[in-house]
Amino acid sequence: FIIPEFESFSKEIEEIYWKCKSNNDGKVASYIPQLARMNPNYWGVSICTIDGQRFSLGDVNIPFTLQSCSKPLTYAIALDQLGEELVHRYVGQEPSGRNFNELILDHNKKPHNPMINAGAILVCALLKTLVKPEMTLAEKFDFTMNYFERLAGGEDLGFNNAIFLSEREAADRNYALGFYMREHKCYPEKTSFRECMDFYFQCCSMETNCDIVSVMGATLANGGICPLTEEKVLGSESVRDVLSLMHSCGMYDYSGQFAFKVGLPAKSGVCGGLLVVIPNVMGICTWSPPLDALGNSCRGVQFCEELVKKFNFHRYDNL
Ligand code: GLU
Repeated sequence: FIIPEFESFSKEIEEIYWKCKSNNDGKVASYIPQLARMNPNYWGVSICTIDGQRFSLGDVNIPFTLQSCSKPLTYAIALDQLGEELVHRYVGQEPSGRNFNELILDHNKKPHNPMINAGAILVCALLKTLVKPEMTLAEKFDFTMNYFERLAGGEDLGFNNAIFLSEREAADRNYALGFYMREHKCYPEKTSFRECMDFYFQCCSMETNCDIVSVMGATLANGGICPLTEEKVLGSESVRDVLSLMHSCGMYDYSGQFAFKVGLPAKSGVCGGLLVVIPNVMGICTWSPPLDALGNSCRGVQFCEELVKKFNFHRYDNL
């Protein structure tokens, strides 16, 4: 086993869990009513190792929407289907140093990276327009959801239509980003702007839970092979690229500090989800809705910081 003493390891995780549970910092996202209503006390942690050992604690079966945790996943599909060279003709690899939804492109008039909104909207355009272009939007939705499900070992994902509709209603900034990119001819030819935006909101509105997302993390930790099904869902080069950008850009404007303090690839979302990958070891998902000023789950960040205090999981431990 990759974690030989899994039971004592789980006990340590449990201690960190309870420590973080008493953290009452942060505010639940309030830009749409469906998120504002989230109970701030929800707190779940799930772990899945690359050899399929699992441990979960707390609110691990309550559904939440992926939101920005979908960004590394759509990016992974685009890489896998189109190759790194083609994808990065359209989107960069640089941390933006700015807010996740800021109206800004890089020096080449490309979105900075696929982990911020502009980059993720563009990746959705690539998936919609260049990957199996004959598919309708409905078919592309199924195709994408199916990919997400295979990353999760065949677990069914849900779709939260109320959140999708609200996201689309409250999306002035995302439309502004979308139009700004259209002005700068960022999209591949034949992109349907409306379909691309809808597809982005749909990916954000896919619904999962902690348990399921930890398996997705384990698949990434395992070079693209799902530990539960042994299916090779993604090529290992694609996974390498995804983890690299999660490491440098996955935690909004805290990404640099997180890379320094925790040293692990991660992606957080406005719903309070946090997907963390310990390469060659395990996937972790934490979920707790209250967010700090930069948009990361307060308990989730604390959990990661405590985790690397106890274990040598920081990328540059063990030197
Ligand atoms: N749906 C949100 C948006 O596009 C996702 C934001 C997030 O999770 O960071 O604004």
